[in-house]
Amino acid sequence: MKIIDLRSDTVTHPTPAMREAMAKAKVGDDVYGEDPTVNQLQEMAAEMLGKEAGLFVPSGSMGNLISVLAHCGRGDEIILGNKAHIFLYEAGGISALGGVHSHQIPNQDDGTLLLRDIENAIRWEDAHAPVTKLIALENTQNSCGGVTLSQDYIDQVGDLAKERKLALHLDGARIFNAVAASTSSAKELVAPFDSITFCLSKGLSAPVGSVLCGSNEFIAKAHRLRKQLGGGMRQAGILAAAGIIALDEMVERLGEDHARARTLAKGLAGVSGLTLDEGTPQTNMIFMSLAEHIEYSADKVAAHMYRARGIQISLTGSRSFRLVLHNWVDDDDVKRVVDAFEELLG
Ligand SMILES: *Cc1c(COP(=O)(O)O)cnc(C)c1O
Repeated sequence: MKIIDLRSDTVTHPTPAMREAMAKAKVGDDVYGEDPTVNQLQEMAAEMLGKEAGLFVPSGSMGNLISVLAHCGRGDEIILGNKAHIFLYEAGGISALGGVHSHQIPNQDDGTLLLRDIENAIRWEDAHAPVTKLIALENTQNSCGGVTLSQDYIDQVGDLAKERKLALHLDGARIFNAVAASTSSAKELVAPFDSITFCLSKGLSAPVGSVLCGSNEFIAKAHRLRKQLGGGMRQAGILAAAGIIALDEMVERLGEDHARARTLAKGLAGVSGLTLDEGTPQTNMIFMSLAEHIEYSADKVAAHMYRARGIQISLTGSRSFRLVLHNWVDDDDVKRVVDAFEELLG
C-alpha cells in the first residue's frame, strides 16, 4: 500500500530530474564563493524576486534568523504576529542567539497584522523602551490556514515601514504558493520587503535549503552571519542543483496542489463526522476538526488512518487536523483519503 503523507509539504522527496542534476552538479568551495551551482541558484532566486542578491542557507529557520540578526542588534525589537512561524516554531532563536526582543501583536484570521496594532507597537524615543527596528510578515501565513496576504495590504505595511524608517522582512517560506493564489507576480508581492526568505524544500520538493534575498549590502551582512551561525557550507552545489530544478520546474505546478486541496476539501466536507474550517483551503492546506458527535479523539483517528489506511495527517489540537497537498499526492490518493474518512466518520 502506498503511504499517503499529508503531514506537510516538507515530506516531499527530490524529483528524478533533481537527483540527476545533483549527480552532475559542478561544485566548488562555497565558503570561498566558488561554487558555480550555488552562485547560479542565488542569482536565479534574486532575479525571480527582483532583489539585488541571494544567499543559499540550510533552512528557512536559519534564513529568518540571519535576517532578524542583520536588521536588529541586541535589545532591539521586532514586531511580528503571535502566530508567526518565527515566534512559534523557531525555538526562540532570535532571542536566544540574537538577544532580539519580540513584540507580538495578534494575527487576524486573514493572516494580517492590523496597521493600527503595528503603529501602536512601534516604540517611542525613550531610554525605558527598546528600539523598534523591524516588522516581519509571513506569506502564506501557515498558522492562519495557509492564507495569502493581499498586494494592497502588503503595500500598506510597506508604506508604514518606510514612513517610520523600519526594516521589513518577509518569512516567505511558501511565497510561490502565495503567487499561485494571487494575481500579482512574485516580484510585486515582495517589492516592499527589505529581505525575504523562501523554502526550496517544501512544495518545491528540493531536499534541502532556503534562499534569502535582499540588497547587496544586506546579503553581505547576511553572509557573515551565516558563517557565524555555522551555516557556511562547502560543495553545496550538490544541494543547490536541486534548488535550480525546483525554481525551473516546480513553481508553476503549485497551483495543482491548490486545485487538489479544493477537491479533497469538497470530498471531506461531505463526511458527516468532519467540520472544515471556514474558508479552508486557501492554498495547499486543509484545516478541519471532528464534528461534535464523534467520540474518538483526533490522535485516535490519525493513528487509525495511518495503521489501517496508510494515510498520515498532522494534529493541530485534541480534535483537529491539518492536511497538506504536495507533489507526491495525486488524484487517486485524494479519492483514497476521502473514502477512508467516509468509512470511519461518515
Ligand atoms: C517551514 C517554515 C519555515 C522554515 O522552516 P525550516 O524547517 O527551518 O526550513 C519558516 N516559516 C514558515 C512559515 C514555514 O512554514
